[in-house]
Amino acid sequence: MIPLIRRDERQTNEVEARRYEGYPWPMETRLVILGAGTAGTMAANHLRKRLGEDWSITVVDRDDAHHYQPAYIFVPFGKDPESVVRSRAAQIHDGIDYVECEISKVDADQRIVQLTDGRTLEYDWLIIASGTVIRPDLVPGMGDGPLWGDRIHTFYTLEGSVALSEKLKSFDHGRVLVHTAEMPIKCPVAPLEFTFLVEDHYRKRRLRHRVDISFVTPLDGAFTKPVASARLGGMLDDRSIRLVADFAVEKVDNDTSELVSYDGRRLPFDLLVAIPPHSGQQFIERSGLGNDAGFVPVDKHTLRSIAHDNIFVLGDASDIPTSKAGSVAHFATEVFIENFLSITSGGEAVHSFDGHANCFVESGRGQALLLDFNYDTQPLEGHFPVPGVGPMRLLKPTRMNHLGKLAFEHIYWRMLLPGRSIPVPTDMSMAGKRSAGE
Ligand SMILES: Cc1cc2nc3c(=O)[nH]c(=O)nc-3n(C[C@H](O)[C@H](O)[C@H](O)COP(=O)(O)OP(=O)(O)OC[C@H]3O[C@@H](n4cnc5c(N)ncnc54)[C@H](O)[C@@H]3O)c2cc1C
Repeated sequence: MIPLIRRDERQTNEVEARRYEGYPWPMETRLVILGAGTAGTMAANHLRKRLGEDWSITVVDRDDAHHYQPAYIFVPFGKDPESVVRSRAAQIHDGIDYVECEISKVDADQRIVQLTDGRTLEYDWLIIASGTVIRPDLVPGMGDGPLWGDRIHTFYTLEGSVALSEKLKSFDHGRVLVHTAEMPIKCPVAPLEFTFLVEDHYRKRRLRHRVDISFVTPLDGAFTKPVASARLGGMLDDRSIRLVADFAVEKVDNDTSELVSYDGRRLPFDLLVAIPPHSGQQFIERSGLGNDAGFVPVDKHTLRSIAHDNIFVLGDASDIPTSKAGSVAHFATEVFIENFLSITSGGEAVHSFDGHANCFVESGRGQALLLDFNYDTQPLEGHFPVPGVGPMRLLKPTRMNHLGKLAFEHIYWRMLLPGRSIPVPTDMSMAGKRSAGE
């Protein structure tokens, strides 16, 4: 076994000498973080500032391309795909080791991470922040038939968004289905955003009358939460977009170009914009750490693994019952940091994560809505982030919300990833909120 933690020879000798003298702890405590996406990068940068030099932090990811995923929805409509990507290593601060390699397996009993190139990493504490993977292979005929990449596209990868952008250039009439296969997915409002934007795209090109658009979902409405679902469903209706609810997909029929449900409904399409099923990463399954969908079971208030006390799970990789979203990764990571510092100093968890999610919903026509909710409270009307003031409005399409959505990309790179605090409360606030009927 080759430990990867970098120590110079002098340091190593000191560690060994102190061990020999009977010190109860090694000089260095080893934290390994799996995944340098949204949650892993934020956690590493926050913790490097807060943990002493007696802690080493090692982050592992498979490549050097960090994507700002929320911008994928704009690529089919002209955003430069290169503007979405930056070097991962460059987002990670000094004093953190970055290892670029595929993770093969975690041996939680031995506290070892195996990499595919044969190297291994020992850890005292492990953070899993490996996100999700999209699985078109789980719907027969979706990813494995001749229509994939021809009449079937997805904007859930950057590569897919670029291909869809090419497709939209020549697609000027026909039936478009925007289809979510099953929950959970990353950013459950993104399919709605794409639907509003594609409607806007054809309206601006004066081709709207030639393009029939349907929003197809396994849910009983446009969104998971009733008030927002009614509001967003009304907006689909206003734009003459058909809502096809309770659609449990069985397969894609490549011969007839139809989406087929288990209850026998068949929806013909000329363009299927697919949001395929999501699962956790394969190495989670291989390590015996995941549930049936490959997500790691955790305490939803502390993000601590149910099975292993020295493992925490941040971002989309856990099974917490809230949206898989960057905003959730952000709020949960801030809660986690305080708990982690307390626990590793011999104390208890000091803060409880409430499931806070905060999602912009781009609605076309230069506007966006903003949803704010948590485990217990559905999205309500009000102002954000300052109650009664805003400048953003909750559950209403406004120009300011749209500008907020665009500005967030800069905040992501400059403040969120580097671990700088932004003036948005970690816990959801009820101040100034009212239910939509009041
Ligand atoms: C189209 C779209 C729109 C979105 N819009 C929004 C939005 O408006 N607002 C919002 O809050 N969120 C949005 N999201 C969701 C948001 O991007 C994710 O929830 C967030 O990035 C999750 O962070 P994460 O750290 O859990 O996972 P990721 O950022 O995906 O990072 C996981 C990392 O783990 C690495 N990894 C995984 N397995 C391995 C392995 N075996 N070996 C090595 N490395 C590995 C991956 O390479 C990756 O870098 C959107 C997502 C999409 C796809």
